[in-house]
Amino acid sequence: MAEVLVYVDHLDGAVRKPTLELLTLARRVGEPVAVALGSGAEATAPALAEHGAVKVLTADAPEFADYLVVPKVDALQAAYDAVSPVAVLVPSSAEGKEIAARLAVRIGSGIITDAIDLEVGDEGPVATQSVFAAAYTTKSRVSKGTPVITVKPNSAAVEAAPAAGAVEALAVSFSEKATGTRVTSRTPRESTGRPELTEAAIVVSGGRGVNGAENFALIEALADSLGAAVGASRAAVDAGWYPHASQVGQTGKSVSPQLYIASGISGAIQHRAGMQTSKTIVAINKDAEAPIFDLVDYGVVGDLFEVVPQLTEEVTTRKG
Ligand SMILES: Cc1cc2nc3c(=O)[nH]c(=O)nc-3n(C[C@H](O)[C@H](O)[C@H](O)COP(=O)(O)OP(=O)(O)OC[C@H]3O[C@@H](n4cnc5c(N)ncnc54)[C@H](O)[C@@H]3O)c2cc1C
Repeated sequence: MAEVLVYVDHLDGAVRKPTLELLTLARRVGEPVAVALGSGAEATAPALAEHGAVKVLTADAPEFADYLVVPKVDALQAAYDAVSPVAVLVPSSAEGKEIAARLAVRIGSGIITDAIDLEVGDEGPVATQSVFAAAYTTKSRVSKGTPVITVKPNSAAVEAAPAAGAVEALAVSFSEKATGTRVTSRTPRESTGRPELTEAAIVVSGGRGVNGAENFALIEALADSLGAAVGASRAAVDAGWYPHASQVGQTGKSVSPQLYIASGISGAIQHRAGMQTSKTIVAINKDAEAPIFDLVDYGVVGDLFEVVPQLTEEVTTRKG
């Protein structure tokens, strides 16, 4: 059976959920061969094998941590040359998209970014994308070279499908460009203890209606009762009530959780662009005419200062 390369996103050997989702999609196209790079690469093998990787190609070198993406592109290209896959799948993070784009240029292939689904067509994998501020859903396939496809988090369910997951060392020789941009320092982000916004299964967001940084505690309390990440509209971010890293929308992050709860957010097109592919959307807004109600599955017309605490209390009670 044809092999599909899957680029692994991991932290010191702990495989992140979007990669496991990618393995689910990869199995539709062929036999997944995972490529894990950097510190802890070999430690990824059990999780990858559990989710269908027939092989795990690993490489570690200081270059992966000390320089920006080019060493990783060199390694992915080495894996591509070794395997001759029918497709290359990469998680749709900012770094993933850069790696994928550089690889596509090098191997002369077409690229599809931010796919939300993948199926097998007669002439290769067909990717579904949500485009133009999620106003259209398109299906497309790469018509030149080996398809390179980046897939958004939460696009598929993680499914166990045990496979061999045989670890093989990948020989990588770094190109001249690999050491062009050195990482000079790193500052770990302060952990909130909440899931990563783009990967979270549930996102609770607040907008201008939250009316102040201090009131975001209400949004955080609801998020914590659900084990959710916290998002914000640009109006809330621009007002300085919540960090920019939490902005959802066209100029913020794009999220696609199972459940998105918008509180005090009107539903401007630029906000919708970042959340419209969420599976279930709930909005709380005191204006029954707010455009957000056009796209919700459940809408609550009411004052968020009354509704959100009640919701938090109810969730907490039901959790027992
Ligand atoms: C180029 C460009 C890029 C942009 N990128 C983004 C982006 O990435 N993300 C983004 O979000 N926006 C973006 N915007 C801004 C966007 O156009 C809107 O201005 C913004 O989304 C509005 O945020 P909001 O819904 O919080 O505020 P508003 O539109 O002011 O809506 C606030 C809502 O809260 C409701 N409300 C008020 N008080 C309460 C209460 N007590 N209880 C319940 N409801 C209440 C109101 O009825 C209203 O519907 C962008 C704009 C441009 C031009």
